[in-house]
Amino acid sequence: MATEVRESVGEAVVPGTGFTKAHQLFRETVRRFVDTEINPHVDQWEEDELFPAHELFKKAGDLGLLGLSYPEEYGGAGADYWYNMAMAEELARCRGGAIPMAMGVQTDMATPALNQYGSHELKKQFLEPAIRGDAVCSIAVTEPGAGSDVASIRTRADRVGDDYVINGSKMYITNGVQADWLCVLCRTTPGNTYKGMSLIIVPSNTPGFSVAKKLKKMGNWASDTAELVFENARVPVRNRIGEEGQGFIYQMQQFQNERLISALGAAAGAEKIIRMTIEYCRGRETFGKPLIENQWIYFKLTELLTEVEFLRQMCYHCGRLMDRGEDYTREASMAKLKAGRLVRQVGDTCLQFHGGMGYMEEYPMARYYRDSRLMSIGAGADEVMLGILAKMEGIAPKRGS
Ligand SMILES: Cc1cc2nc3c(=O)[nH]c(=O)nc-3n(C[C@H](O)[C@H](O)[C@H](O)COP(=O)(O)OP(=O)(O)OC[C@H]3O[C@@H](n4cnc5c(N)ncnc54)[C@H](O)[C@@H]3O)c2cc1C
Repeated sequence: MATEVRESVGEAVVPGTGFTKAHQLFRETVRRFVDTEINPHVDQWEEDELFPAHELFKKAGDLGLLGLSYPEEYGGAGADYWYNMAMAEELARCRGGAIPMAMGVQTDMATPALNQYGSHELKKQFLEPAIRGDAVCSIAVTEPGAGSDVASIRTRADRVGDDYVINGSKMYITNGVQADWLCVLCRTTPGNTYKGMSLIIVPSNTPGFSVAKKLKKMGNWASDTAELVFENARVPVRNRIGEEGQGFIYQMQQFQNERLISALGAAAGAEKIIRMTIEYCRGRETFGKPLIENQWIYFKLTELLTEVEFLRQMCYHCGRLMDRGEDYTREASMAKLKAGRLVRQVGDTCLQFHGGMGYMEEYPMARYYRDSRLMSIGAGADEVMLGILAKMEGIAPKRGS
């Protein structure tokens, strides 16, 4: 139901959004999940540099959190996307970015193309267990030699009879160590253009597939990130999502939700950190008065809250465009760009106002500073967003000119 319709029948409870009472009730479920199943364990998982994905995702699946907007036929809730947006905001209550990122990969990155373009059999085999939380999944696009420039990926899937034989490697893949299956972008036609790529589901028990390395990271320690290798990994042609050669297009479409959800989660996370900083500055005295009484500090924190509100409203605007079936590539790219820039500012400023305490591992500030830095790099770096936007605005020079 479009936001305007919800408002006209008095259903919308947050003006200008599609959130109704039902969405607000749902938030409480996610909040409880975060408070009981995630936050008490996060410090340990960070220390272990791994969280128990199967155990946690099963609990999330039992609560219906992994298939909110997916069809009931495959175990989803058949709900509108405002539920995913509510969940993204509530997951920002997690003590760190690792778990929201891992869950976001499962719900909004590895599965949307499968849901939209996969065959019924493929959805039964892979989407259904992912929604139930019985299978952990990954999206594998980036390679050691190709990140921002997705069109230059080299992992090949050669057709041999009724199979694809996959050779290549993928880099920085979230959930990659624990995944049961991966949605892999492969080149099915030689060349190096965006045409000729396909999204193919590869179960992680496929002979020829291996995890080359579990990568050590600057932040988001609890989330596993892997380098993956495919050496003559053979999967049936029926594991391809949709049409051959359309993988790049499907991936680009899937990126829009990924960018929207991560920008909205970033807004909620940034607000949480700013409010935590306000409290800290109320309690901490220097030169005979609380830090918060310094105009530099309360102006700066107010300004950051203002920017966060702009970002959140932009994300809600994307939700309204989605409701109406309109393209929101431009707005989601703007939101993602703004989110990347803003969380860096929030992390740096709030850490500064915490002084030495901000630098201590026992306090959430340092983790936020580290984890949030990814926002400007993952799911399309800031400069990639600028490239998309400059092209849409007609500012960027045309290729070859
Ligand atoms: C923790 C983590 C988790 C990740 N999870 C996944 C995952 O699950 N699946 C997946 O497929 N990938 C994943 N990635 C990969 C991520 O999407 C890429 O790192 C990102 O797209 C950037 O690619 P790159 O690292 O190859 O950087 P490069 O493409 O080498 O770019 C380096 C930098 O150059 C700049 N740049 C790039 N192009 C331009 C340009 N045209 N103009 C100006 N500047 C430019 C940008 O600042 C960019 O950060 C993850 C990465 C990290 C760090």
